[in-house]
Amino acid sequence: MKEKINQYISKFKVARSLKVRIFFIILLVGIVPTAILRYGILQNYEQRAVEVRISDVQTQFKILANHLITYNYLQDTSSEIINAELEQLSNLYDGRVLIIDSNFNVIKDTYGISQGKTMISEEVIKCFKGGNGVNYDPVNQYIEMTTPIVLIRQNEEGKENFEKEESVVIGVMLTSVSTDNIVANIEILSRQANLIQFVMVVIVIAIAWGLSNILVNPFEKVSAEIGKVQDGFQDEPISVSDYLETEHIVTAFNELLGRMKTLDESRQEFVSNVSHELKTPITSMKVLADSLIAQEDVPIELYKEFMTDIADEIERENKVINDLLSLVKMDKTAANLNIDTIDINAFCELILKRLRPIAKQRDIDVIFESKREVTAEIDEVKLTLAISNLVENAIKYNNDHGYVKVTLDADHQFFTIEVEDNGLGIPQESLEHIYERFYRVDKSHSREIGGTGLGLAITRNAILMHRGFIKVESEVGEGTRFLVKIPLTYIAK
Ligand code: ADP
Repeated sequence: MKEKINQYISKFKVARSLKVRIFFIILLVGIVPTAILRYGILQNYEQRAVEVRISDVQTQFKILANHLITYNYLQDTSSEIINAELEQLSNLYDGRVLIIDSNFNVIKDTYGISQGKTMISEEVIKCFKGGNGVNYDPVNQYIEMTTPIVLIRQNEEGKENFEKEESVVIGVMLTSVSTDNIVANIEILSRQANLIQFVMVVIVIAIAWGLSNILVNPFEKVSAEIGKVQDGFQDEPISVSDYLETEHIVTAFNELLGRMKTLDESRQEFVSNVSHELKTPITSMKVLADSLIAQEDVPIELYKEFMTDIADEIERENKVINDLLSLVKMDKTAANLNIDTIDINAFCELILKRLRPIAKQRDIDVIFESKREVTAEIDEVKLTLAISNLVENAIKYNNDHGYVKVTLDADHQFFTIEVEDNGLGIPQESLEHIYERFYRVDKSHSREIGGTGLGLAITRNAILMHRGFIKVESEVGEGTRFLVKIPLTYIAK
């Protein structure tokens, strides 16, 4: 059973091959017209040959009918000239001639069988009435026809009749002529046609085979080139420019390859950044621990101080790991969103409430301005992380006694959250990099105040997952303004 299914699948696969399809299309286009032509020509030949034979025979028998009148054959069948003529014609056309008089008596049969008998058939009656009957029987291979024997009588003077002459059918010739030689000719013709057709089929198969190979070749080249890339992951883009179509495929593939390379590079960079970020606190801890071990009789105060530093480094390590985990969560597909209808005013208030104590330590004023009541469909946990990061940054990169202003607004489609501060600001050239993982404008300062460089990457990912977008404006020394715009209703793709 399984084998049968496999066989079926493999057969089906062959039918799906472009090469096989082209092969059969060319075969069809090459062979069908020749078959139609052959059939048409043979049919036409038969029709034409029968027509020629009929007109031939009719002419001969019309002449004979006149002779019959001249020799008064219907009254006296002994005329040797006519009998010889009849014999000659029936031999010539390989047929039989019956001569029937006006009483439907057969007065002459060249086969000698029906002589003296009565013959009343539809054709004969029709012919007596003036009609000419021709009947071709292709199955039994003969033509049957009737020829009237017409007497022209002179009308007597004084009769009321206007015409001087009058035609009277006084007898009928019933002739059947064999079409054997036509059939023999058709057979010869058809044999020749078969031979020509066979040669044609062989040539068409050869052309179809060659053409299907040539036409499909560029596609095979494309897959071979792609195969090479898979094997070696070579750097150069591939090129098969035989067809516009293969060029399109190759261009699309090269673009994909480029994107894969960029992705690969950024992943490598990310991994090396992660290792570096995780190694830094460990190195510090090792240095601190080693220096404690190396010294003898270390005073308890120094122990305490070094241990506090080690605890700080552990805290830092913990922060980096937590941020990395958040980022990994955000990197997953939008299907992981936990969408709920949320009161965004309360949502913002809660975030600010949590962060105000930190701001208070540096006397930074945190203001919330809501232009309207907003409810929206969001993933509360992920968006809290995003907005918290923005407000946290606005506090972290602020001057003492500064302010942070959060403004909420909405239109019929989106809600916007604006986070504005009058802090340090971001240099223009750094603006395009701030969403990159581990990017910090001032590395040492950021480290000092506990930054990991992952905050804005997390924020941006969370916003993109909600199909929203984020924009930043900043001036060094003046402050920074982040604008987040998110659809009110979540649209799953
Ligand atoms: P970090 O953990 O270092 O804060 P982020 O990804 O949150 O990392 O931010 C990246 C960098 O962007 C920060 O190091 C900081 O230099 C800069 N930055 C972010 N927000 C602000 C802001 N409100 N004011 C000034 N600089 C900012």
